[in-house]
Amino acid sequence: VELLDKLDDIYGRATNRALRLKAYRPAVVETATPIVSFTFDDVPDTALTAGAKILEAHGARGSFYIAGSLAGVVEPKRRLIDLDGCRDLAARGHEIGCHTFSHRAVRRMGPGTLDRDLDRNADYLAQIDGKRVRRNFAFPYNAGSLQALRTLRSRYRTCRAGGEKINRGEIDLAFLNGVEIRQPEESALALTARIDEVAREPGWLVFFTHDISDDPTDYGCRPQTLDRLVAYAIEKGCTVETVDAALDRLGITGDAA
Ligand SMILES: [Zn+2]
Repeated sequence: VELLDKLDDIYGRATNRALRLKAYRPAVVETATPIVSFTFDDVPDTALTAGAKILEAHGARGSFYIAGSLAGVVEPKRRLIDLDGCRDLAARGHEIGCHTFSHRAVRRMGPGTLDRDLDRNADYLAQIDGKRVRRNFAFPYNAGSLQALRTLRSRYRTCRAGGEKINRGEIDLAFLNGVEIRQPEESALALTARIDEVAREPGWLVFFTHDISDDPTDYGCRPQTLDRLVAYAIEKGCTVETVDAALDRLGITGDAA
């Protein structure tokens, strides 16, 4: 099993590399104003109670990528929000995005399975905000898939991965770059350098993280750190807004061609 996991990991990395060789859904980011988006995956309850609150205190909103199967799930260091938590986020003006229903790597689902999974999550998300719209999507584990390109294109405005890059010039809506906010805390705080970069040469910086807790998992950060990053982005003249709002500002429709 360990060997298979290793092989699968290698295959996953190769897939992501192949996806980065060219833009499958090219778009151009042209902006005089630097843009920063804060996004949250899964979503742990502290992303709502602390994360959303911090953004709101700065007059900003975030994007929350929800996987229906994780609703109310309790893990050792986190509890995932349920329908009520999601409805709270939507009512407060945050964006609800799709993160698959099952939270399996997309490339591990066959076409039929993937379609059923995405339909199921669309139903779940519609229960949150009543919307049947082209949402934004984030890959579970930031793991892309070549065979899912068409399916994802027909359903979503953008698909966010990792990559640690700022979206600038020609970008790929099929594999939007994300910069991770995670442990150790010093590295999370040092992400002000990425904000300096986007302020210096305007583009679109999309952060992603998970829990916002005084005792964060490896994949989250402390409330003071998130607060510092949001405040710093605003200080530096960045517009802090959701992925959906940033696309509108940039004039990128994300329509399926
Ligand atoms: Zn996830």
